[in-house]
Amino acid sequence: MLTPMSFHPDTLCVQAGWQPKNGEPRVLPIVQSTTFKYDSSEHVGDLFDLKAPGHFYTRLSNPTAEAVENKIAALEGGVGALMTSSGQAAEMIAILNLCNSGDHLIASGAIYGGTTNLFSVTLKKLGIEVTYVDPYASDDTIQAAFRLTTRAVFGETIANPALTVFDIERFARVAHANGVPLIVDNTFPTAVLCRPFDFGADIVTYSTSKYLDGHAISLGGMIVDSGRFDWRASGKFPGLTEPDPSYHGTIYTDAFGPSAFIVKARVQLMRDLGATPSPMNAFLLNLGMETLHLRMERHCRNAEAVAAFLEGHPAVSWINYPGLPSSKDAALVKKYLPRGTCGVISFGVKGGRDAAVRFMDSLKLAAIVVHVADARTGVLHPASTTHRQLTDEQLTAAGISPELVRLSVGIENAADIIADLDQALSACG
Ligand SMILES: *Cc1c(COP(=O)(O)O)cnc(C)c1O
Repeated sequence: MLTPMSFHPDTLCVQAGWQPKNGEPRVLPIVQSTTFKYDSSEHVGDLFDLKAPGHFYTRLSNPTAEAVENKIAALEGGVGALMTSSGQAAEMIAILNLCNSGDHLIASGAIYGGTTNLFSVTLKKLGIEVTYVDPYASDDTIQAAFRLTTRAVFGETIANPALTVFDIERFARVAHANGVPLIVDNTFPTAVLCRPFDFGADIVTYSTSKYLDGHAISLGGMIVDSGRFDWRASGKFPGLTEPDPSYHGTIYTDAFGPSAFIVKARVQLMRDLGATPSPMNAFLLNLGMETLHLRMERHCRNAEAVAAFLEGHPAVSWINYPGLPSSKDAALVKKYLPRGTCGVISFGVKGGRDAAVRFMDSLKLAAIVVHVADARTGVLHPASTTHRQLTDEQLTAAGISPELVRLSVGIENAADIIADLDQALSACG
């Protein structure tokens, strides 16, 4: 039996999750079935009442998704995981599993734009309020953001696209002092490079659409439960510690112990919201994850070489990459990401918006894409694409300067990537 304690992350990437028994397929099967057949109605009744484990409807669980969930739970060192149809769905379910209308959330100000929209637009409509704090704020400033109704703290290990490194241990300490859990989105470094639970985080979320999938082929999300937060001691989570009338009064903490959070996320919220991944996407995610450890190493080494090249280039006005020794986050990287950070770099092209557009249009190997974190090198110039409706002044106010280029370094040969950037930088001056 493969246990999380006995193998290195590399081995878990390849082998954890699907462990075939005698005569079963070597490769994880795609269980393309919405439903499952049983011999007695009593057994199905027990499944519905959560008395027996097993699959009965793919909206709640599916064997292909379950194998990938177990692989990620093993990698992160958690007690269980729930796969979702996208990263957005993972963030939403993680928050709704803790917050009701009238509750409050504290989030790092440096997080993914889609998550900011989810928090500030849709959760707000549901009556959940969010306060953003600077990720470098002092403990006192973070503490001052707490209200009696605060139910969670949220941050990203490496923020997309700001690339700031989140001080997990410090935020966990303040969250716990206030009786609430810390949720960390670990999309950029992945569990191969950082395990937030080792630093006190309680819940990990993912957009698996990025490095875990790794090939830009399928959307997905994941929620992982450390099993370590004491919901009962906190007293702030009646949804977990008081009877659920939709399951004959089941109390999740009593019935499922350390897995209470992740079981409730599945049987209550996935049941009601249905943000379910397809078995095919779960299969593709598993396949991608079998090489995650190799790809992350190469993404990091390539990005480190590219960042060193860009840092010394006369046509580059500034560079932001947490893996550079000169990064403002070097101390945090040393603590949380000693083996590497990620493959995403942002930098400024001298000459502003027009020079950046000329640079983009001169690239031959790196492709213009909105996505990040897959095997192929890609670039995005927000000022002329995703944020083109904004003026230079509005862009600067949003923290995106007109000359900013976001580069997602792939796993090709580093010298080829650098040669492409070099010729495009010469062409834009
Ligand atoms: C992409 C991303 C998301 C959203 O995930 P989708 O799979 O696109 O829904 C959330 N958080 C982070 C950090 C991301 O990079």
